[in-house]
Amino acid sequence: MYIRCIDAIYYLGMRDQAWLQQQLGEIWRLHFPDVQERNPVRIMFGRRAYRRLGSISTDPQDPEQTIIRVTGWFQYPQIPVEIVRSVIVHEMCHYAHGFHSGGAQQHTYPHAGGVIRREFAERDLEELYDRQQEWLREEWPKFLRKHYKGNYIKNPNKKGNKQ
Ligand SMILES: [Zn+2]
Repeated sequence: MYIRCIDAIYYLGMRDQAWLQQQLGEIWRLHFPDVQERNPVRIMFGRRAYRRLGSISTDPQDPEQTIIRVTGWFQYPQIPVEIVRSVIVHEMCHYAHGFHSGGAQQHTYPHAGGVIRREFAERDLEELYDRQQEWLREEWPKFLRKHYKGNYIKNPNKKGNKQ
């Protein structure tokens, strides 16, 4: 007798493209209302990268289309939504600074001089920033050791995570 129980795919499916776009919309509305959407932003899950957790780029086919990608690992329900959101906030900070946004670039380098941390702080999200750092240090390696079957990762944070 075959009894179909809880389907893992169902849980993975809960965090889909629409869910991600909704997260971005909420974050924009709540924390970046001053930032004009010059270039429309599409957000998607990328490949399951464990060092590069997020990225922002311009669509090579369309220079007026911005693309934010977050690691495919973030589809797993074990990753707190807060962490997914913190990576989206990070990419939105780049956008607010004029990187891949169609606006004027405010800094020469996207991460120099603690500009991301400062941007979180100015938007009342310093606590989220600190929680993200702590989670990446404490929990992310544990998650990867459990789920990254292909290759055992001794110290995934050795070189630091990129966003
Ligand atoms: Zn970054």
